[in-house]
Amino acid sequence: MILITGGAGYIGSHVVKEIAASGYDVMILDNLSTGNRKAVEVIINLLADLSGAGKTYLTVGDCGDQLLLDQICQQHPIEAAIHLAAFSEVGESMQDAAKYFTNNTAQTILLLNSLRRHQVDKLVFSSTAAVYGQPLQNPILEDHPLQPTNVYGLSKMMIESMLPRYRVNYGLNYISLRYFNAAGADASGLIGEKHRQESHLIPLVILRAMGKRDRFTIFGDDYDTPDGTCLRDYIHVSDLAQAHLLALQALLAGTMQERVYNLGNGQPHSVREVITAVEHCCGQTLPYDIGPRRSGDPSILLASSQRAREELNWKPRYPCLQDIVDSAWRWHNSENW
Ligand code: UDP
Repeated sequence: MILITGGAGYIGSHVVKEIAASGYDVMILDNLSTGNRKAVEVIINLLADLSGAGKTYLTVGDCGDQLLLDQICQQHPIEAAIHLAAFSEVGESMQDAAKYFTNNTAQTILLLNSLRRHQVDKLVFSSTAAVYGQPLQNPILEDHPLQPTNVYGLSKMMIESMLPRYRVNYGLNYISLRYFNAAGADASGLIGEKHRQESHLIPLVILRAMGKRDRFTIFGDDYDTPDGTCLRDYIHVSDLAQAHLLALQALLAGTMQERVYNLGNGQPHSVREVITAVEHCCGQTLPYDIGPRRSGDPSILLASSQRAREELNWKPRYPCLQDIVDSAWRWHNSENW
């Protein structure tokens, strides 16, 4: 059985579906502070008729709750953990650093200690491109210096910097996955991105197109980029999920003990290109405002994911921005929870 923390969240629910569909039993541990019980119910229903799929269970609680972890590990044969439970709002992290240090860093240390106590020695850790900060060059390779410019990135970098010691001292085998801009939704249209407070580009533009928001503002059009707006590397959430499966399998097979991978498509897309992609979906021109730059936004963030492609044999199935946006559009228009 695989323990997946944060499995009721946006990325987590897609990871759970991928791992369980591949035949692994999954125990989700999620405190439902940002995750959604309904996402788990939908996955269980979706996989009920899929032959060879593993069983999915949900425990509601904190990943740092050591007594709860003791119970889970005593009652179930946990072979490995995928740790996604975290807060991930950059802006919020700058206003309330303690929330991020407590949840993303301190709770993760407690989880690592629980895994260690129960001899669970394989971990896939959910990290982020935010650990790099302002890039010195693009595309970014994994050995680029880590200089996060926000507390979210720092809270993840601190764990990344501890993992090598957990390997040396306690034999923890781990793979850190640094996501670039996760977007899109499962092909079923039944799970997707739903945040209580939305701050991400693609859902915001879609909500504007659906008339659920009055305005959309581009944060700065005076960057040194072809159309003046920031360039980002959007990666389909189902492709991220596939990378988690490959990382898990590499750990379980013992072919990988300690590695970090960037996950992106290596294709730069501007904010205006995203708006155009949503306009294709809704068939109308979207009005928008131009506002000031958002503090801490690098002009370009682009991944080199060569390492994941070569070593994990990772092949993104939805590299085209329009496909990513189409899938998000379908989700937002069919969303019923
Ligand atoms: N962005 C924007 N308006 C918004 C939200 C985001 O112009 O209302 C821009 C943001 O400045 C960045 C890009 O969209 O250049 C992607 O932002 P997002 O918050 O989705 O992801 P990030 O790159 O910050 O992880």
